[in-house]
Amino acid sequence: MAETEKPSELQKPRHVVRKFQARPQHEGYGAVVRRSIGRFELKYFDPFLVLDEFSVAAPAGFPDHPHRGFETVTYMLEGAVTHEDFEGHKGTIKAGDLQWMTAGRGIVHSEMPAGQGTSKGLQLWVNLSSKNKMIEPRYQELQSKDIACTSKNGVAVRVIAGQSMGIQSPVYTRTPTMYLDFTIKPSAFLSQPIPPVWNAFVYVLEGEGVFGSERSGPVGPHHLLLLGQGDGLEVWNKSSKPIRFVLVGGEPLGEPVAQLGPFVMNTDEEIDRTVDDFQYCINGFEKAKHWRSGALIDLEV
Ligand code: FE
Repeated sequence: MAETEKPSELQKPRHVVRKFQARPQHEGYGAVVRRSIGRFELKYFDPFLVLDEFSVAAPAGFPDHPHRGFETVTYMLEGAVTHEDFEGHKGTIKAGDLQWMTAGRGIVHSEMPAGQGTSKGLQLWVNLSSKNKMIEPRYQELQSKDIACTSKNGVAVRVIAGQSMGIQSPVYTRTPTMYLDFTIKPSAFLSQPIPPVWNAFVYVLEGEGVFGSERSGPVGPHHLLLLGQGDGLEVWNKSSKPIRFVLVGGEPLGEPVAQLGPFVMNTDEEIDRTVDDFQYCINGFEKAKHWRSGALIDLEV
């Protein structure tokens, strides 16, 4: 096809270089997640540590646990999750809501489904650079109604982070990140720029789409697609139903990663110190000493 006929402003669209199906695994207390990034096949996709598609119903959930050295981004798809932390920060995030939590030097919290039925969502862990790992914890929370969204030519986007189709998210990303929730109608086409040096992936939520190259086969729900180099992504909906997926990209940190479960630092020495800090409730974990969430009382642990 001649350059002028191309229905896109991209010079070098990214192709899909790896594809995974996220299979269910047990996490937390009786909860099941489909983990894609963070599995043994893909321990790290700089700056992303974990991507979980979770599906939880009471009494299962994620009772009291710590984090240090990165951010957890929870985006609800269905139902609701109540979170509570050792600072007294508490709330419920519902379908379409976002919580961008910077754990920094330390958070201990619980994340439990609220109400009846199954609660579903995505949780992404974004690594922090060495200079940001020990900053004060911070929350950025957006209700569904406050998330920037627009639509054009059969493509709708909710801009969780970064910008798309002329719309900008208010979320501040310490590690520069884009996070876009797209719904594409049958026969519609998307062309989304992505900064060329960033790592980027797609996670399919509903329907089937053709990603990266018009000649590639359709991809359905629960699949993670890692994108190769280029300046953006092209997506076609050649099916008879809408497709919904998230496109996430981030600037690689290029730093060593030392991880022990929910602690992510740069060196093993820093991990050892973190284990001590958590055990002795010091250096950011002071309030963990006398705090227990309501979740643990409910579970009678
Ligand atoms: Fe957590």
